[in-house]
Amino acid sequence: MITKQSFGKTAKTREQVDVYTLEVGLYKVSISTYGGAITSFLVPDKEGNVANVVLGYASLAEYEQSTTYFGFLIGRFANRIKAGQFSIGGEDYQVPCNDNGINALHGGVEGLHSKVWSASTTTSESEATLHLSCFSKDGEMGFPGNLSVNVDYTLSVEGKLKIDYRATTDKTTPVNLTNHAYFNLAGDGKDIRNHLLQLDCDAYIPVDATLIPTGEVLPVINTPFDFTQEKRIGEDLEAAGGYDHCMVLSDRSEHLRRCAYVYEPTTGRTMAVSTTLPGVQFYTGNFLNGSDMSKNNVPYNKHAGFCLETQHFPDAPNHANFPNCILKPTETYKHTTVFEFNV
Ligand code: BGC
Repeated sequence: MITKQSFGKTAKTREQVDVYTLEVGLYKVSISTYGGAITSFLVPDKEGNVANVVLGYASLAEYEQSTTYFGFLIGRFANRIKAGQFSIGGEDYQVPCNDNGINALHGGVEGLHSKVWSASTTTSESEATLHLSCFSKDGEMGFPGNLSVNVDYTLSVEGKLKIDYRATTDKTTPVNLTNHAYFNLAGDGKDIRNHLLQLDCDAYIPVDATLIPTGEVLPVINTPFDFTQEKRIGEDLEAAGGYDHCMVLSDRSEHLRRCAYVYEPTTGRTMAVSTTLPGVQFYTGNFLNGSDMSKNNVPYNKHAGFCLETQHFPDAPNHANFPNCILKPTETYKHTTVFEFNV
């Protein structure tokens, strides 16, 4: 079943925004046409008690003003590009440095997360799909090419939320799309440190003080980034200085394969993440500081949620040794990520 509710109009352009709620079996996910954001995801625990497992705001205005990217679809280029500079075919490009004036972050201030996406729906007995699409014109936020983007969110009765990403361009351009949901399997408002996390990632991308990759791809063994065996998120959190790192999937193929498995002991909730992408940014909400409020008016403090943003490696346009993130006019960007809930 899919229902649609008005979320109001955007402040700047007075565009109508709706929230679509996909309800299948025991699961219920709400998605806003503003930025394609997952605004709530109701999932049962081992006793059948339902809680919201993603961080989100009560109002559209908060989504428009915030810098947390809660639940948004991110593009054209998720994560950072050093000094906002890259070149393609001998041509230099400069995209806005919206990350403290130093680097480009998440496609710029007016990235895909700030668009009102067009929506349509399809349902069957066991699945509900929200089809979202948007268009980014040549030169928008500094990126070359007219880019058409389609994202399908499909919720299925087994508790899987599948996200299918597709994009085409008329000029060669970097593309890196992700979803920026912050999860908390204990329920929105709780701390994340006691979650057990396993990452199917044998390497990570070390970064400098501005969170730009050094260019190395290092093994996780004997570092705080080693989650190859299940480990409490809190265990090495301080040693890592808070996680905000791109983890490299051990399986270097582009098949849909698992990259993460999370277990929350008090509720029994689990989440498995699979993707066709080469990396997953593990971010522990280090920049949350209590100034953002939940729907129940509880402040989101540091580490109130964790993100597992499947993606190409950060700053990939500037690293020939990283997997290719460049889309040509003759190609279609096509990736899939699945979040699967269970107890
Ligand atoms: C980045 C963080 C950034 C956050 C913004 C994450 O994807 O890795 O460095 O602060 O997004 O919400």
